[in-house]
Parts: sequence; structure tokens; C-alpha cells
Amino acid sequence: MQRLAIITSGGDAPGMNAAIRAIVLSCHSKHIECFGFYHGYNGLMDDEYQLLTPDMVRPITQYGGTILKSARCPQMHHDSGLEKAARTLRRHHIDALIVIGGDGSFRGMMALQSFWSGRLIGVPATIDNDLACTDSTIGFATAVTTATQAIDKIRDTANAFERVFIVEVMGRHSGHIAFNVGLATAAESILSFENCPTDNLKHVERELIEKIQTQQQNNHSSFVIVLAENLWPEGPQGLKTALFDAAKIESAVCVLGYIQRGGSPAPEDRILATELGIEAVSAAISESGVMIGKVNGTLTRSSIIRATEQNKPVDQALHSVYQQMAYF
Ligand code: ADP
Repeated sequence: MQRLAIITSGGDAPGMNAAIRAIVLSCHSKHIECFGFYHGYNGLMDDEYQLLTPDMVRPITQYGGTILKSARCPQMHHDSGLEKAARTLRRHHIDALIVIGGDGSFRGMMALQSFWSGRLIGVPATIDNDLACTDSTIGFATAVTTATQAIDKIRDTANAFERVFIVEVMGRHSGHIAFNVGLATAAESILSFENCPTDNLKHVERELIEKIQTQQQNNHSSFVIVLAENLWPEGPQGLKTALFDAAKIESAVCVLGYIQRGGSPAPEDRILATELGIEAVSAAISESGVMIGKVNGTLTRSSIIRATEQNKPVDQALHSVYQQMAYF
């Protein structure tokens, strides 16, 4: 292999830069030229790239975001866009493309497979941790740390005012962030897809009200609800209104939002990104259509189809820990 290209695509995740650095340094040691295309798949559409050298990636590990920028690229959903991306890769005689991103970016990779005969490798990076075939995705540990620190601060004011707080965390349609952050912050309630039947939220609401009322009678203190985004109709404001309308419970709402995507990557993410990046270059020498992961401490190469199509449920052990923490 002589030429390799990389993109960072979809939602950015802290640790993407560490993955870029690992790939560039690994290419350098193997005498492979490394092309960095900008703005996700848009860089392939617009032929916007830079040859990446070790000097360019030396000081980036500690920064969130991505030096290659990231973006959505609607053109990838059409044959004409896929053909355009393939043409760029052919023009530069690229042997392999490494995509650092989430499941959407990997679907883009699979679509590109029909138009380009080069090798395609995925490196899982998304704060949501919603990809199978890896215990953790790059960015997840940082997002959990950031949200935990934020809720610790919210807890201080919640305690001072003996208040109910509804804190919405990210996760798209999975509860990895909600469960991990809920447990880390000793949240009185975690509301997520895994423990709330979306067709019976009235029942969830009744249980929650009972829990809040019991707690308020027993000890006048704060009550933190960690709510997964996209779960409750009308979001946290909808839940706030429901609590007030049904039981005159006052609550404050805090949407953590994009702070969970940014910030200096946690050491776990930097290390994971470095390991996955190096393994991705090794895989790119002979394999295609695989995602690099780490399962039970071992680096793995799994079919990209399995990684995107399988569900990765929140660990059952976390559910049962949460159940056992209910003491009201
Ligand atoms: P993430 O990788 O974080 O899940 P997105 O879902 O936004 O982010 O996907 C990133 C990009 O991947 C999209 O903007 C698009 O260019 C490409 N992509 C996603 N799904 C497909 C698909 N089914 N076919 C082709 N390209 C896709």
C-alpha cells in the first residue's frame, strides 16, 4: 500500500484528533502517504485535502473537535455523489480510505463500496457509543465525564433549593450516556429508552411522581432526573409540564447539549483512539469493509455491516445496579 486517505465524518467526538495522529504516524513509519480530506465526505466531493505529515499532528491529541473538520454530506445519498467521491479517490491513486465517524458515516462507506474498488476501514467515533462490535466508541468516555461534572454542579444548586431538576443528556436513540451519567451522579431517576416503554409513558410518569413525592416527604433534598434526549414527547419541557399538571411538582430544566461533544478528550478516549488508529492502518494493508473495535481489552476487526446493523444495548448489569440503588 502506498497511499491512504482519512476523513472525519458526522458528529465530531473528542479523541478524533488522537486517531488522526495515530494514523498519520503509523503511515509515516510504514512509508505510506497519508491524505487528509476535509469536512467529511465533502472533501472527496470538492477534492479538498492536504498531505498529512508527523509535524502537523504532533500537538493535537489534547484537543477536542477534529483538525480535518467534520460535516454532513447529502451528496453521498445519491449515485452521482458516490461516483464523484470514487473519482477523487481514483485520481489520487488512493489504496485505502479510513473513515473516523459514527454509524451514518459507516453507511456512507458501505454505499461507496459499490463505486470504488479500494479498501475501506472504519474507526468508531461518536459520543453516543451506539455502535456494536466495540465496547466503547471514541468520545464516549469524555462525554460521560463532561456530563457528570456538569450534573455535579447542578446538584449543588438543586440541593441548596431542594429542587427537582430534569437534565437532558445526549445519546440520539440509545441510553449509554444516560445510564452511565445517571449512575455516576447518583441521579434519583434515569429515564431512557431501555427502562421506559415509549408506548406507556403515563405509567412512567406516575411512578416518577410517586418517587418524587415519597422522597420529598422523607428528606427535603434535591431530586435529579437524567433524561435521554428524544425519549419524552416535547423533551424535558414536556416532562416538566406533565409533572406540574399531574401533581403540581415544580422542576427546573437543563439541557446539557453540545458541551457533551466538546472539550479536551479524557485519557481513555485518547488511548482508545491511538490504539484503534494504529490498528486501522494495519488492517488497511489487506482488509476492507471492517470496523476496528476493542472488545474485552482486545483489538478486533468486525464486518462494518455487523457493526452498524446490530444493536448495542446498555449493559444489563447497569440496569440492575440502578434498580438496586432505588431506596425511596
Ligand atoms: P454519524 O457518522 O455521526 O452517524 P451522520 O448520520 O450524519 O453521522 O452521517 C454522516 C454522513 O455519512 C452523512 O452526512 C452522509 O454523507 C453519510 N451517510 C450517512 N448515511 C448514508 C447512507 N445511507 N448512504 C450514503 N451516505 C450516508
